Amino acid sequence: MVILGGGESGTGAALLAQSKGFKVFVSDLGKINEEYEKVLLNAQIPFEQNGHTNERILKAKEVVKSPGIPDTVPLIKQLDEMGISVIDEIEFAARYTQGKIIGITGSNGKTTTALLTYQTLKKGGLNVGLAGNIGHSMAAQLVTGDPDYWVLELSSFQLDRMYKTAIHIAVINNITPDHLDRYNYEFEHYVKSKLRIIQNQTEKDHLVYFADDEVITNELKQLNAPAQKHGFSLKNPQESGGWLENEEININIKGNLKMSIQKLALQGKHNLNNSMAASIISQVLDIRKDVIRESMSDFQNVEHRLENFMTISHVDYINDSKATNVNSTWYALESMSQPTAWIVGGVDKGNDYDQLVELVKEKVKFIIALGANVENIHAAFGNLVEVYDASNMGEAVGLAYQNTTKGDAVLLSPCCASFDMFDNYEDRGNAFKNMVRSL
Ligand code: ADP
Repeated sequence: MVILGGGESGTGAALLAQSKGFKVFVSDLGKINEEYEKVLLNAQIPFEQNGHTNERILKAKEVVKSPGIPDTVPLIKQLDEMGISVIDEIEFAARYTQGKIIGITGSNGKTTTALLTYQTLKKGGLNVGLAGNIGHSMAAQLVTGDPDYWVLELSSFQLDRMYKTAIHIAVINNITPDHLDRYNYEFEHYVKSKLRIIQNQTEKDHLVYFADDEVITNELKQLNAPAQKHGFSLKNPQESGGWLENEEININIKGNLKMSIQKLALQGKHNLNNSMAASIISQVLDIRKDVIRESMSDFQNVEHRLENFMTISHVDYINDSKATNVNSTWYALESMSQPTAWIVGGVDKGNDYDQLVELVKEKVKFIIALGANVENIHAAFGNLVEVYDASNMGEAVGLAYQNTTKGDAVLLSPCCASFDMFDNYEDRGNAFKNMVRSL
């Protein structure tokens, strides 16, 4: 078995494969992080880094590919052409679990919903693991134990290489344009990739989905999916599912659960969706209503997601570095109640900024454009508000500080990936917070 990519998922897959008696070889085109290098050395798993030895890789019976490697690189194309099975770490790991899988996908809200669900199931007394695009790899965890339930955050890249994995409860939070650079700039390909989450579901399984999302509902109409369906909606009551009515969320899977939205730990419309999705799953799995209520009200917000970080001279500084696409920033702007200095920019994955125009008119005092693609930001908003350019985070925060007054807010919600200037979104969020701290 060959593993491509020596990160969290690759190293985990290597450990599991070795424990199941496979001959394993790990190959990484770049440098393997020291932490993972140590794990591989300790386990005496052969590996190479800073380049692939193609002859060796092309002899594999099966290849586990890191979700970070696009399908279009020559090596993957060659493996596909030769008919060598190329799978994701989850597909591999799932062969060795007896546990039931709760899979959460969507363009936004996967991590938040996965964590909310995991916390609630755990509080409810279930033996449950958390993996996928979050925390420790499922494969690595399976070396030492197999919980009864797995909450998995699943990105479209992971789903692209999942074939037989059975998802007992699938969640599709929303489907809005993201990662189009990896889908040949065709939204339809990305949509199909998300829908792979239900490909092996039967009548015994459940599908939880955002009923206000027309992309999802149109696809479901055509697909005739066999699973039991539970929609959640900010507008309309659901036959089976959840909805918002009179400042309360209602869940009617098993009996009726109502919760005042003021009591929810996570505020903002998007988080109502995440809370409803997690509550629906919990009800399907018979978690007690008081446990669900408690969990929804004491959940600790996850860092870098609309994180109300600090108030300086009556100006709030909000870190939403994880907003890497237009839809997540839409919800961030929508939730703002003060005149907002909006810091935006980075690696643009094919953004359509038109959707933000109305919110910018309504909420944004001025814009600070950061990073590589500032022309697009100027073109989209330059005639609505002042757009300042910043070449680094220090400059951006400085401009925000100078141009805001008492009662304003400063929002970092970049709508873009971070790789032009930062290692990842955490690094970007931390840079923002450090600069704010130094004010
Ligand atoms: P993901 O794991 O899918 O990237 P996160 O929970 O990490 O999702 O949130 C990513 C970004 O999207 C954050 O900026 C967050 O505020 C926003 N967000 C969270 N949930 C939703 C949702 N249901 N719909 C739209 N945006 C959301």
